[in-house]
This record gives sequence, structure tokens and C-alpha cells, in this order.
Amino acid sequence: MALDKLLGENSVIFTKSEQLFDAARANSLWYLSYGIACCAIEGLMSAGGPKFDYDRFGIFHRGSPRQADVMIVAGTVNKKMAHALRKLYDQMPEPKWVIAMGACACTGGPFREYPNVVLGVDKIVPVDVYVPGCPPRPESMQYGFMQLQDKIRNRRKEMAREQRSA
Ligand code: SF4
Repeated sequence: MALDKLLGENSVIFTKSEQLFDAARANSLWYLSYGIACCAIEGLMSAGGPKFDYDRFGIFHRGSPRQADVMIVAGTVNKKMAHALRKLYDQMPEPKWVIAMGACACTGGPFREYPNVVLGVDKIVPVDVYVPGCPPRPESMQYGFMQLQDKIRNRRKEMAREQRSA
């Protein structure tokens, strides 16, 4: 329902600018995909296609880290590429978030016995949302994005709570 219909035509809303910015951020997430294995093919690429159409939620793919808010790590990360992954993360502007997509990105998955595999991308970058599965369905990624949106909308409250308890 349109906001003017919900509140009445001449209504005024008061809010904090930070909350307004966070609401805008949560509804316009540009993701830098870090697709390195089957998860990227089977789960992530179909997310942007016509069936699942993440664009309608304001979630867009972006090819450059400098204009991306979210990094999606989709696939098995090995030690050789850890440095490149961290470099891309560092090139993203603040505030930024990370989604670990699939068992491999979350924990090393079925390849965790191999010595060259990183046992979870959280060893390299801070992860905000974990989406398990091998591979996760696009619907699971959608749910992961909804969790991230909640986290972004409530992050000021979370920061204030942490400051109070420190
Ligand atoms: S979690 Fe499964 S589908 Fe995803 S990258 Fe690992 S092996 Fe492939």
C-alpha cells in the first residue's frame, strides 16, 4: 500500500537520518559475487535470472568491489586465493557485509579434509550471514538476504547495545 494512503495525504514522518539511510541500504543491496565453484553456478546465477529475479528486491549484481555493499562467497575457498578474496573485501567501501553461501564457504564442506582448503571464509573476512546447503537453493539465498536486511535495519540498535555493555 502506498505510504500516503496508509498515513493520510498530509502526514509527516519523523525519523533519525541514520535509520533512514539504513532502510535505504537494506533495500538496495549491490552484491559483488565471488563465485568460485558449483554453488555459484547452481544457486547464485539462477538468483538473478527471470525465475527468481532478485532485482525486484533491490538486490543487484555488481562487477566492481568499489560499488558493492555485499560480498557473496559462493564456493570452495582455497588458501591460494585467500589473499585475493581479502583484497577484494578491502576494496569495498564501508559499510559492507559478507554472505557465506554453501557448505564449502561456511566450513570447507565436502572438501574440508584437503589441506589447501580454507575451513570457512570467516577465517579471512567477517561473515554476517551463513547460508548452508550443497548447493543452497536460490530460495535459501533469498532468505539469507532477508536476514541480512533485518541485520542492517537493526544495526544501530545493536551497536548501541554493544556500547552499553562494554
Ligand atoms: S557447497 Fe557443494 S555445491 Fe557448493 S561449492 Fe561446495 S561442493 Fe559445490
